Amino acid sequence: MKSSSGTLLSRRGFCLCCVGGAAFAATSGWLTPREAFAEARGLVSLIKDSAAVSPIVTHGLRNNISVLEGSGGNIAVLTGPDGKVLIDAGIGVSRPQITKALADLGADPVTHLINTHWHFDHADGNDWLHSAGAKIIAQENTRKHLSGIQRVEDWDYNFLPLPSGGIPSEVFAAEHHLKLNSASIGLKYYGPAHTDSDISVTFAEANIVHVGDTFWNGIYPFIDYSTGGSIDGMIAASDVNLAVTTNETIIIPGHGKPVSNKAELKEFRDRLVAIRDNVATLKKQGRSRDEAVAAKPTAAFDAKWGQFVIDPGFFTRLVYEGV
Ligand SMILES: [Zn+2]
Repeated sequence: MKSSSGTLLSRRGFCLCCVGGAAFAATSGWLTPREAFAEARGLVSLIKDSAAVSPIVTHGLRNNISVLEGSGGNIAVLTGPDGKVLIDAGIGVSRPQITKALADLGADPVTHLINTHWHFDHADGNDWLHSAGAKIIAQENTRKHLSGIQRVEDWDYNFLPLPSGGIPSEVFAAEHHLKLNSASIGLKYYGPAHTDSDISVTFAEANIVHVGDTFWNGIYPFIDYSTGGSIDGMIAASDVNLAVTTNETIIIPGHGKPVSNKAELKEFRDRLVAIRDNVATLKKQGRSRDEAVAAKPTAAFDAKWGQFVIDPGFFTRLVYEGV
């Protein structure tokens, strides 16, 4: 268990979203609820332990915007005289490495933090960033999920509320706009997609958009049905992302290679649609979930996309749940 997860964790970051996949991959079958609970608790600890020692890699983009890779989801940073603006917070135990990476981008303090959605690997660092001076902004469902005990059914796991400082102080329902460091920053709610709290964050002049966990670049995504996510929501969000980007847009995915583009996004969307169709056909034929997995409806894509912790069987089960 430990060695398998350790390999996965050390290979390419880690996230809350991957807990279910790692538990599944390590045991070659679904855990009983009680086992899943124990494993998930162990894996959350493992994720935190790994984040504590993982390096942060900084990718410079353009218009004073960078992306930090290595603590849960990809973190975007805009620098300037209004202070640093962060998109997502990573995992709290990465604070020393993130602090150093931020200092390397300039001396301005962090003044704003935007959460793309409520998941631990994007919001666990909220509390320390708030204490460092960040005002936290998010969609209203993110505040709701971070404010109470949040159950993720697939893992039989209850996440505790964040400390009060980590709760977003400014929320919106559909859209929100900011002007900071001469950048026009647009926050837009997708509606239910990967969860029920996902937003995109667009830097208009730079033509850069952080699309959160509606896009996993080159890997199968997690979908959180317990807080409103679905395969159809993921496809709808991908269509929105394609509609608002051009071939020149830099697209920052929630997970996977952090500097992406429309061609890779299109490939992701087309694969979601193809696999959804395959799984829906099997379900319509009356196949059970395990029979659908055994039919390998993702086989054509597994060599490239099944190499991360959301493995083909786990992803098939997530799609099956929503068709
Ligand atoms: Zn997520």
